[in-house]
Amino acid sequence: MGRIKIDEVSDKYDVIVAGSGLAGLTSANILAKNGNKVLLVEQHFLLGGLATYFKRKNHIFDVSLHGFPIGMKKTLRRYWSQDMADRIVQVKGVRFDNPQFSFETDFTKEDFTKKLVAQFDLEQEVVDAFYKELADMNYYDQNDMKTKDLFEKFFPGRNDVMRLLMEPITYANGSTVNEPAITYGIVFSNFMSKGCYTFEGGTDKMLEMMEAELTKNGVDILLRSRFEKAKIEDGKIVGAIVAGKDIACDSVMSNGNIISTIKEWVGEEHFSEEFLAKVKPVRINNSSCQVYMGFKPGEKIDYIGDLLFTSNCPEYSSDKLLSKDITSRTYSVYYPELRPDAEPDYTVVASTNANYDDWACLSEEDYKRDKQKMIDDTIAALDKYIPGVADKIDYVEAATPKTFEHYTLAPGGTSFGTKFEGLDISMNLHKQVGGLFHAGSVGIIMSGWLGAANYGVITANNVDRYLFGLNK
Ligand SMILES: Cc1cc2nc3c(=O)[nH]c(=O)nc-3n(C[C@H](O)[C@H](O)[C@H](O)COP(=O)(O)OP(=O)(O)OC[C@H]3O[C@@H](n4cnc5c(N)ncnc54)[C@H](O)[C@@H]3O)c2cc1C
Repeated sequence: MGRIKIDEVSDKYDVIVAGSGLAGLTSANILAKNGNKVLLVEQHFLLGGLATYFKRKNHIFDVSLHGFPIGMKKTLRRYWSQDMADRIVQVKGVRFDNPQFSFETDFTKEDFTKKLVAQFDLEQEVVDAFYKELADMNYYDQNDMKTKDLFEKFFPGRNDVMRLLMEPITYANGSTVNEPAITYGIVFSNFMSKGCYTFEGGTDKMLEMMEAELTKNGVDILLRSRFEKAKIEDGKIVGAIVAGKDIACDSVMSNGNIISTIKEWVGEEHFSEEFLAKVKPVRINNSSCQVYMGFKPGEKIDYIGDLLFTSNCPEYSSDKLLSKDITSRTYSVYYPELRPDAEPDYTVVASTNANYDDWACLSEEDYKRDKQKMIDDTIAALDKYIPGVADKIDYVEAATPKTFEHYTLAPGGTSFGTKFEGLDISMNLHKQVGGLFHAGSVGIIMSGWLGAANYGVITANNVDRYLFGLNK
């Protein structure tokens, strides 16, 4: 069906998918393809959640299109379309520049291994043993090892090696060395295999293609409409209130934050004491800040790499990476080749991990001042890589954790859902309330575009099984 208005919704749906992040979009598409009647509800005026973009002046800024593993190609081919899969292209160069090392890599396992042996002077056998340990990790194994213990086991005292192996992962999913090693192992094994990829045409093109696919498969899409409350009878989903309207449905697939889902969308009274005791310690993940810079028409950026991990901090430190006193920035450089069909345009997005509280506690005046300082410092820092950059830019904008909170309603403006302990809660919601499911960036393993989309696939299959059982 495609986009509809609130007064056009049907009386009854098999499933309401609440939230159109990559997990919500992918779930909705699979469920509709499998013949279910699906309503996709999104509070924002755009689909995509964090995977989004915005247009200012003559620029299109991608918010979170920087890079993902090759697995994204298979996911798009199997669950979206071949045309979309064909747009996955390799990012040419990833550069590191910090006081400990400076080089470019294609982000493949081969190149990483070469650098670890030749530049970091490690034994090939040690590197191989490290990879093997990662590859053998299994989510279902009980293992209390932390990521920092894993590094200490294989590369004792080597802060430089930890920086190389950890910095891209911290950037990609906000995790630190204090998380369980399994979260690192799975993400690293996914990421560091065949290089880093991106979507040709940008996030705007990807979302346009996804919407066309959803429409073709019969999903009703309701934008600017908030999922307010799930309706439950005899321990089962029977409907929902969306934008003030009662809609009957047999199941709800939440793509919102897992804590908000339990506490606000459903209500704690519907969960067992035992389950709620496990929900209590679930931590919201950290957030990020970004500075978006658009270049004047006719200005060019000579190739400086596609992704640049930079830092002036002498050593790798998880705390420093999150600090408001920014020492590390990851620049994503968008050359005109990203959008071959559009007018040539260069943009750069500088990202840093961030703590919500550092920004949320500020007065309006201090917030404005600190945001401006972040912009000024970022432009000054970028001058090292693009000399004279301040004069080349014609538009600049910044986002903080408060911006993410505003646009996605995610508590704490989290860019990465919850920490690892949230995954078990997310996967077991349906055992508490019949027909209630969750998919989305959670537990680090399932974060990022690929993780969220793949989690959407897993949950769609569970929803399908539940609906099939009801109709038997
Ligand atoms: C700055 C930044 C850079 C990133 N870079 C990368 C990268 O390079 N590569 C990568 O793979 N990943 C990256 N990510 C992470 C990636 O974007 C996310 O992990 C992924 O998009 C999350 O998808 P999700 O399905 O969890 O949903 P989300 O994106 O969290 O979407 C949830 C949706 O639910 C909606 N919603 C919330 N409440 C309601 C409600 N009550 N009613 C209706 N709708 C509601 C929200 O509006 C939102 O659209 C980045 C993230 C950020 C913030």
